[in-house]
Amino acid sequence: MDKNKYVGGLCYDEYDENNILVQRFGPHIIHTNNNKVWNYLSKFTNWFYYHANVLGYIEGKYVPIPFNLKSVEYTFPKHFSDSIKQAIYYDKNYTFKELFDSSYSQLNKLGSYIKENVFVPYSEKQWGKPWINIDKSLMHRVVPFRANYDDRYYTAKYQAVPMCGFSKLFSNMVDSHNINIMLGVDYFNLPNIAYKNLIFTGCVDKLFNYRFGKLDYRHINFKHRYFTDEYKQSTGVINYPKDFDFTRVSESKHLTNQKTKGTVLTYEFPGNNGFPAYCVDDKENKERKNKYLDIVNNTKNLYVCGRLGNYSYWSADEAVNNALSLTDSF
Ligand code: UDP
Repeated sequence: MDKNKYVGGLCYDEYDENNILVQRFGPHIIHTNNNKVWNYLSKFTNWFYYHANVLGYIEGKYVPIPFNLKSVEYTFPKHFSDSIKQAIYYDKNYTFKELFDSSYSQLNKLGSYIKENVFVPYSEKQWGKPWINIDKSLMHRVVPFRANYDDRYYTAKYQAVPMCGFSKLFSNMVDSHNINIMLGVDYFNLPNIAYKNLIFTGCVDKLFNYRFGKLDYRHINFKHRYFTDEYKQSTGVINYPKDFDFTRVSESKHLTNQKTKGTVLTYEFPGNNGFPAYCVDDKENKERKNKYLDIVNNTKNLYVCGRLGNYSYWSADEAVNNALSLTDSF
């Protein structure tokens, strides 16, 4: 049962009026080292093997993110980038602490540059609060500095987008005589529905009528714009840490390898209204979430699943892994 009129949640994609496959809720790419997740999803789709390259628009230049040696060469004069190359351990992923603690002042400067131009303004826009109040554990997802020329956003073993889109993948998944689906039906309008086992994938605080208070969510509003150009961007995703009100702009055609006339850009505007896109993984919310999950764990025949059910900031592969682990446990 899904209150949406489609399956797949935020992975939903569809062909627009110009026959362009558009990911309606921003760029989704499967990136995983988990064989079980990869093999499971591969039962429902063929893949377009896509390695995301993300650029950041920084001081008028498009710079590869995560910041790597290419980004250093684009950004700084030759003498500075040469001195960085002298100071690094090639291939190492540097944390901010390592950059700031280094005895090489060039690495300290590089750390400050990346922090001030890539992380602080982007995170403040994304999360709507000052840097000092942002839980830094969110940031483990993006390496501050990668000391090589690998400018892929992810380095996982499997990286791909479903050949015919995510919606098709999910409709294939539920296409079984053992599965009846109800779309456009809100569980909260049928609170007394009888069930043997209930797996709830919506907001866990709402399930319990907010009895321990509301959990915080960050919302994203997506705007899609059609252009007659074949492509508008040189890559699938461009991040805008400082400029404009949107955080990033994605161009579906890069992700899907679709050959069509025209293209669509998707702009992401973070805010506090709309539908919940991200949980806020800070201490206060984690404590509140644990109270809700305790009730779930102590209620027979009730389970939660997915990002909203578990109130966890997961990538798609982690959400799939969670679903597989849950079903394995039955
Ligand atoms: N981040 C950032 N600058 C960037 C990219 C990411 O500061 O250019 C930080 C930001 O706080 C963001 C987090 O890293 O919320 C996770 O980024 P990711 O790209 O993994 O976000 P998602 O794709 O889940 O929106």
